[in-house]
Amino acid sequence: MNKQSLFPSKLTKIIATIGPATSSPEMLEQLLLAGMNVVRINSSHGDHKAHKEVITNIRKLDRDLNTSTAILIDLQGPKLRVGEIEGGQTELVESNQLVIKVGAGEGTDKVLYTDYEQFAEDVKAGEPILLDDGKLRLEVISTDGKSEVICKVIHGGNLSSRKGLNLPQTKISLPCITKKDEKDLAFALEENVDWIGLSFVRSASDINALKSIIKKHNKHARVVAKIEKPEAIIDLDAILEAADAVMIARGDLGVEVPMQDVPLIQKDIISKCLTLGRPVIVATQMMESMIESATPTRAEVNDVANAVLDGTDAVMLSAETSVGKYPIHAVRAMTQIINSMEANNQKPFNERPPYNPDDERFISDSICYNACRLARRTKASAIVTMTYSGYTAQKVSSQRPKATIFMFTSNREVLNQMNLVWGVKTVFYEKMVSTDHTIADIKYLLFKDGNVKEGDFVVHVASMPIADTGMTNMLKLVRV
Ligand code: PEP
Repeated sequence: MNKQSLFPSKLTKIIATIGPATSSPEMLEQLLLAGMNVVRINSSHGDHKAHKEVITNIRKLDRDLNTSTAILIDLQGPKLRVGEIEGGQTELVESNQLVIKVGAGEGTDKVLYTDYEQFAEDVKAGEPILLDDGKLRLEVISTDGKSEVICKVIHGGNLSSRKGLNLPQTKISLPCITKKDEKDLAFALEENVDWIGLSFVRSASDINALKSIIKKHNKHARVVAKIEKPEAIIDLDAILEAADAVMIARGDLGVEVPMQDVPLIQKDIISKCLTLGRPVIVATQMMESMIESATPTRAEVNDVANAVLDGTDAVMLSAETSVGKYPIHAVRAMTQIINSMEANNQKPFNERPPYNPDDERFISDSICYNACRLARRTKASAIVTMTYSGYTAQKVSSQRPKATIFMFTSNREVLNQMNLVWGVKTVFYEKMVSTDHTIADIKYLLFKDGNVKEGDFVVHVASMPIADTGMTNMLKLVRV
């Protein structure tokens, strides 16, 4: 049996964060069968031993099931936290004062600790301090500029150990890649993961710094910029240009900027990514209630559906699949919502012609653009790209054509990587004899596997001569 028929067919991809609830081979297989395309490992939780086990398990499943699962590892970045709290938790009372000290110690309702060394130096009187995803709010009254900050509680509540601390109006002097990130990055590169997520990106230079480390190690991993800081919104265009993909990390973003701004930021980032051909991920709290419940709320169903209608490449699950009680249900529910949206979406395809003849990719981009137009006019059932870097598959995908996108490649590294990208189905293929021969052979393979039927039109995008990787210059329409 063709094993591919076991997996749900959909265009929008699903990223599932793996944790104790899902790290076993049995659970990973169930997640794949439910519709997962990308495994995400969050470096903020677990250790390298546990992460390695997940990677080993998914790679083995890929071999057994003939799947090409992408692996994304998120670096924690300069995530700030309060330290331990005496007895595990305390209550901060509105209008009371408390001190936040730099260093280690057990916190109470009068004193909290943070290991962020420049904290007292960076904050200024009047700035807000948000705790536990913004549930609690403090205001800086004064700082000694060295080690102690006096604050007033604006919104109180319970606070437990190691909860997040956000400073939306403070210029944080921590580097984007911390000491912990360096160790996690070394691990990720050693494991040859496909994507590396960089948290709390503030400028394009953060992305470039990470890319140059990856390049120095001669690794293929591509960089996902996690957009969750106000500074990133200001430098958005340069960040989108520098990054290989983008994650709208709505959890921290909704704490760092007013929460009501997040929906429009989501739509704006997705639209810009579609124009650039940059894969984009909508993340966090998509199915939050499914951590405890077997069905999502109606609002969650709408949220996933709207992200699909906005045109996202992928939707992401976090605690729902890493520690939740119903991880398989959550992925399955997402698949159902995606399928329903994709079957009924009447939105026209995303026609964005390349506009700059001086751009070095102008020829390739023009071919991809016209491949989608031709496919639409002829009602072709497939667009086939032959690519080494994955560029043309990504570019064709960004136009969201109705025809199925098949990416044939001899490059095993992009095979898994491109599974993050909307609609792209990847096939390993190394018999590059000549352009004519390859097109005929691929047509036969698609027909043999039931992907196209007799009489269908197929649009091919390739380079001629075939050995000229990186120079897609040919468009061919064939009939099966
Ligand atoms: C987020 O804040 O939305 C997010 C994805 O971050 P984390 O890495 O903490 O899950």
